[in-house]
Amino acid sequence: MKVQVLGAAKEVGRSAFLVNCNNTNILMDYGVLLKREPIFPMHVKPKEIDAVVITHAHLDHSGFVPSLYLSGSADIPALGTLPTFELSQLLIEDMIKISGFYLPFEYIDLMTMMKSSKNLSYTEPYRVGNDATVTLYESGHVVGGSTVVVEHEGKRVFYTGDINTRGSKLLRPADLDFGEIDLMIIESTYSQANQQPREEAEKGLLEFAYEVIDRDGTLFIPSFSVERAQEIACVLKANNFPHKVVMDGMALKANEIMGRHPEYLKDPEVFRRAIGEAEWISGWSRRRKVVKEPCVIISPAGMLVGGTAIFYTQQIAMSEKNGIAMVSYQGEGTPGKLLLDKRVTNIDGKMRKCLADVKRFEFSGHNSRTELFEILDRVRGNPKVLTVHGDGQSCTRFAEEIKEKYGFDAMAPDAGAVVEV
Ligand SMILES: [Zn+2]
Repeated sequence: MKVQVLGAAKEVGRSAFLVNCNNTNILMDYGVLLKREPIFPMHVKPKEIDAVVITHAHLDHSGFVPSLYLSGSADIPALGTLPTFELSQLLIEDMIKISGFYLPFEYIDLMTMMKSSKNLSYTEPYRVGNDATVTLYESGHVVGGSTVVVEHEGKRVFYTGDINTRGSKLLRPADLDFGEIDLMIIESTYSQANQQPREEAEKGLLEFAYEVIDRDGTLFIPSFSVERAQEIACVLKANNFPHKVVMDGMALKANEIMGRHPEYLKDPEVFRRAIGEAEWISGWSRRRKVVKEPCVIISPAGMLVGGTAIFYTQQIAMSEKNGIAMVSYQGEGTPGKLLLDKRVTNIDGKMRKCLADVKRFEFSGHNSRTELFEILDRVRGNPKVLTVHGDGQSCTRFAEEIKEKYGFDAMAPDAGAVVEV
């Protein structure tokens, strides 16, 4: 069995790994790296692919899969859970709308991808070719998210995708019952950094929300549409937050998709109440009014790069009694990062000081450093390990630490690297 690294090598983005089992080729993820324009993983010939697995809907894992269907033929099965496909469709459609000019595929290719989808359930093996199987396990990262085991002639490859083993208000923890393995591909996002403990982030966010509303202000929480927006609503509901919560933008479509799949949620009742009792906003007249009400507004984009978040930030930034809670990762050079670091925002074409109180709380869907090592503690066998999906230092240092601590043959691969087991 051979694995070729096609992306996410010493970087976060464009995840793509090609598993070769004799004559059967399985592609695990085919994502984009979202910069000002999307950047793609290494090329594969669609003709040579027997199946593509999508671990979860985030574009850095799913965004380039439609490029495999340019011929119009739906003969490459796309494997993933049903919510992964529904959420991927939502996010890829949005990417086509925003960045279509830079993409080598169109809406029709996304539709061919959807036609090729095979909805897998967790822990049920799916046969590819004559003798390879693909099995998905719950990843705890987003709704429907999976880790992957590919098995061939007694050899097993385990790929974490993006993983969260502690769970959240919305999701159960990752299922780590992956068995004995010969190769592990593990994400390294937070391998060298400590995250704010979850209880602290929740407590801080709630205190901030009460503080802003007590002074008659409005709290704006820019959030990613898939998972983060719903997670924040569930955090407020689970803590019996008594004030009005409104949701807006693409998060509403994600609400609908997630609501259709309660079996993928940790506590469908909390979700139902959090999302059902929130006010869903769709029109501009309501939007203009709600920014003057004492309430919490949850809306994408998480990094303030688009969507109704731009309107809300401009309105909320103009008064000292308001607050903005940053709960999503802020990429370098984004308006969200600028607001966080410099307390400035673009209002009517000019950079102005944000008068509202801005605070940051960490609600990451990824494992912390300690939790990444806890996965390695559970490993049986003596696998090779590839550290991916982290900045250079996070991947390289993590591989060195794994070698020292466990004696596994670990490396931070470059794009194009091939490993055989
Ligand atoms: Zn992700």
